[in-house]
Amino acid sequence: MILTNVKTVLERIRAAENRFKRPTGAVNLLAVSKKCTAEQIIEAYQAGIVRFGESYLQEAELKIPKLSRYPIEWHFIGPVQSNKTSGIAKHFDWVHSIDRLKIAQRLSEQRPPGRGKLNVCIQLNVSAEDSKSGVSLKDLAALVDSVSTLPNIKLRGLMAIPAPSPDFDKQCLSYHLLNDALQCLKISNENNGDHRQLDYNLDTLSMGMSNDLEAAIGEGSTLVRVGSAIFGSRTTKS
Ligand SMILES: *Cc1c(COP(=O)(O)O)cnc(C)c1O
Repeated sequence: MILTNVKTVLERIRAAENRFKRPTGAVNLLAVSKKCTAEQIIEAYQAGIVRFGESYLQEAELKIPKLSRYPIEWHFIGPVQSNKTSGIAKHFDWVHSIDRLKIAQRLSEQRPPGRGKLNVCIQLNVSAEDSKSGVSLKDLAALVDSVSTLPNIKLRGLMAIPAPSPDFDKQCLSYHLLNDALQCLKISNENNGDHRQLDYNLDTLSMGMSNDLEAAIGEGSTLVRVGSAIFGSRTTKS
């Protein structure tokens, strides 16, 4: 089942790349394995997935050590509380959900030596009324500036979780906004290159989920985060 689902999702990604004239392979797949067992993760790994996303540290801390013999890239995609930063800095390769400087500072300080820099995305709130997570557009540039100076953090790009909508055009609108925000940051970085010692290399747009990955790919996603289309519904699953 998981094998078939992975194939289907990869076909959807390739079809969307073609349809929207994205280069083949421009979009990577992150399998969201929250509430899944280690066995299910192994099944997805054997189907070719190497990136897995988790939302809850306590759950991830039980699974990740069990899977240490697999060369998996672990992504933390849930809200980050201050008291969880140490565990996240220890276990994960990426964090997608940075929306405050304090959290990024703690992750940088607590990153274990020898683990390399922690890759992060800043989460932008693209649907203001509907979501409490994510930095607002007006505070984004300042947060990007501060986060990109932290020694053990590598800022990679932006992430968003728009309010769910069945409407393709509405899905596109949110993702268009995220891509616009990324392009603005890149331009302002180039223009300010002389008097700031910042070196952004923003290559990641973490956007698109099971129900809207086509819209996200059309708007420039480089990494889609897919849970239920691979592992089945999280509410009815055993
Ligand atoms: C659960 C989750 C996903 C996956 O959602 P699906 O609709 O199951 O594909 C993606 N991103 C985040 C941040 C999530 O929490």
